[in-house]
Amino acid sequence: MKSARLLLAALAWAALSMSARSQALDFGKIEIITDQVAPNLYMLSGTAGLDPSHEDAAGGRIGVLAGPDGILMVDAQYAELADKVLAAIRRISAAPIRFLVNTHIHRDHTGGNAKFAKMGATIFAREELREGMRDPARPAGDPAAIPVVSYGMGEPVKFHMNGEIVDLVPVRAAHTGGDTMIRFENANAIMIGDYYRNYGYPYIDINNGGSLRGMLEALDITMKVARADTRLIPGHGTIIKRADLIPYRDMIFAIQGKVQQLIAQGRTLQDVLAAHVTSPYDSTVPGGLLPAGAGTSADRFITEVYQELKGGK
Ligand SMILES: [Zn+2]
Repeated sequence: MKSARLLLAALAWAALSMSARSQALDFGKIEIITDQVAPNLYMLSGTAGLDPSHEDAAGGRIGVLAGPDGILMVDAQYAELADKVLAAIRRISAAPIRFLVNTHIHRDHTGGNAKFAKMGATIFAREELREGMRDPARPAGDPAAIPVVSYGMGEPVKFHMNGEIVDLVPVRAAHTGGDTMIRFENANAIMIGDYYRNYGYPYIDINNGGSLRGMLEALDITMKVARADTRLIPGHGTIIKRADLIPYRDMIFAIQGKVQQLIAQGRTLQDVLAAHVTSPYDSTVPGGLLPAGAGTSADRFITEVYQELKGGK
């Protein structure tokens, strides 16, 4: 009985990953949608239903702070969408794009870097992100994409422009090893990158330096920095408030506890995946059972938790 269930789970997993592979990303169909979240702060996101990795909106969300002092952008989407992103920005403002900040290294957030750097934007990011882009193991990209200004885990870097104060708050290795949260003090909004998501289960990119422990710490820092009414804007999914972080963190703790228990019982990763430890949450996590990586986003999350706990980090 148990082996039949395992076989079914394996078949379902294979079918899901095959459907993910066969669905290629058609950039031509993706449009960039603009939402104004404050008088001079806008969010740009791709059309829903076209990006198999992000069914809710293609690619990563972009922030645009516009005004007489020029434009500051947060993240730069897939490279293939850079022209459409630029067109969307130009519908907001004709001012020069002076600064581009990356929340983290993934290509749905940094792909457009080179395009905007060549237009004169100075790119800011964590030292770890810059090093990640320069890694010889990585396919060689356009050198213009590499951040020019980098910073570590110290005090936030602050921009003062367009009547706004923008804080680049470094976050310990969470979704990746080089995450930054970007706070707009007057707009009372924080772009939190991908260390929180409400479409699919949490994604800890261990290969790019992410960690479970850092993700929990990042959530704690966000709760400290945010006020109750601050809008928290993730790289993917819907805008949330501070209170929404609590059940999210509780879910991560609970799943961590269950995986830890199974590891203590000597279970293998396959056993832990077959135990479906996310099942109490599956109905409340949209996209949780959709393909992500080699399996579902639940499988990916459990695998990451297992690897980190097993590694004793
Ligand atoms: Zn990401």
